[in-house]
Amino acid sequence: MIETAELPSLVARVMAELKKRDVSGSLSGNVASPTAENVSIPTGSGSEVDRSVAAAVLAQERWHREYDIRRRTKIIARLREDMTRHAEEFARLSLDETGMGNLKDKKAKILLAIEKTPGPEYFTTKAVSGDNGLMLEELSPFGVIASLCPSTNPVATVINNTICMLAAGDAVVFGPHPGALRSTLRTVELVNLSLRDSGAPFGLVSALSEVSLEAMNALMTHGNVRLISATGGPGVVKAALSSGKPTVGAGPGNPPVLVDETADIEKAAKDIIAGCSFDNNLPCIAEKELLVVNCVADKLKRCMTENSAFEISDPALIRKLETTVLTEQGTVNKAFVGKDASHILERIGVAAPEGVRLILVETDESHPFAQEELLMPLLPMIRVPDFDAGLTAAKRLEHGFRHSACIHSNHVKRLSDMAREMETTMFVKNAPSYAAIGVDSDAPAAFTIATTTGQGATTPLSFCRTRRCVLSGAFRIV
Ligand code: NAD
Repeated sequence: MIETAELPSLVARVMAELKKRDVSGSLSGNVASPTAENVSIPTGSGSEVDRSVAAAVLAQERWHREYDIRRRTKIIARLREDMTRHAEEFARLSLDETGMGNLKDKKAKILLAIEKTPGPEYFTTKAVSGDNGLMLEELSPFGVIASLCPSTNPVATVINNTICMLAAGDAVVFGPHPGALRSTLRTVELVNLSLRDSGAPFGLVSALSEVSLEAMNALMTHGNVRLISATGGPGVVKAALSSGKPTVGAGPGNPPVLVDETADIEKAAKDIIAGCSFDNNLPCIAEKELLVVNCVADKLKRCMTENSAFEISDPALIRKLETTVLTEQGTVNKAFVGKDASHILERIGVAAPEGVRLILVETDESHPFAQEELLMPLLPMIRVPDFDAGLTAAKRLEHGFRHSACIHSNHVKRLSDMAREMETTMFVKNAPSYAAIGVDSDAPAAFTIATTTGQGATTPLSFCRTRRCVLSGAFRIV
């Protein structure tokens, strides 16, 4: 752990390192492949965690004190421009590295993060004046944040977190997922080149280049890390909360979508396919199981199969699908997470029709396809007698994660009843699930959705702490 007293010598080391190193290459030029050397972590003695956090402490201090809102806004605007030029490269790299998702949607997610993540303009100050003077509440940075990111959206999460955290006045050290290390380091490298070109302090954004559970835990428990942002499955959120630090905990989900007999069935079919197959179902907010009121189930299924969903109804093929995408214990076979529907169909010996995006299988509620968070374009469809039964089943299938849910209905009261009853962080009515994170909707982009700890879809405000100042007996103007 780095103590405050050690900081002056660290400054000297960081500055010497900067002088020694030619951090050359601009965003328009050729950039070497990512290594610890050009991802902004200073070399020298101490562990990589210590060095990254020490550099982040110094950079954050300057970012907060010396860079006013106008300057930060300009730097973030430039960052968005620079990242846009690399969206295609990021999408290809993360697809090649993780083998999950598809190029078109990966690029769309990355551009969404670049364009629609809220920045410094998002802040407001609360002021209350009264008989006794003025009360002011302002949002203030935490300092250095440790951000652990998932393999399912590695680039979009890094860009989304970076913009939010810098806008909040913080610095960040990313803990990459081992399966998305190259994509994360490359993103952080290009973020750094952009920040350097616009004169931001060195070390503001970095990433660990060697990842292990020990390194992640060392980062989270580091004395100079003031906030943890943990985006991933239950393990990382639990580990972050166990560190005793304030945490933005963005955990897993199993979002149900419910269709009742009043819905526009053709639109519901298209919306469900669009949301559920987006990046091959990798987003945590994507539809994971479909509940449909029986009297419209056949029509919905027909509309879906006419629109690039492929139904498997042969019991022998369903069995084959089960043994392929599930383990013997009934959990998810990770080899199929984020794979194309055509790839899964081919593996069970079915010639995939041209343009297929989603596999549809009728199951009951207890089936592992419905119970497990599959994260692949395979949607279990469960018939329910009526809306009330559908809502009760949806609530059970969400497992109390309070993450996300969707409904397609034109019954106004049911739209409200389900939103209220599910208690999810994200709730979408009559649109694909991705409307919740800003695709074709007015919502800001969010790739860290704090379900467990309650901050919700994160914005710069989620990475700040509130500070109050009271001025007695003055500053009231009426
Ligand atoms: P993951 O949990 O395997 O990894 C996430 C990060 O946590 C990685 O950086 C990993 O190295 C680290 N990590 C994992 N376990 C850890 C532990 N015990 N101690 C310390 N660090 C640990 O996540 P994944 O499989 O890449 O992503 C998919 C999961 O993430 C799904 O469950 C999905 O729903 C969830 N997710 C949630 C959100 C959200 O905003 N709520 C967003 C994306 C993904």
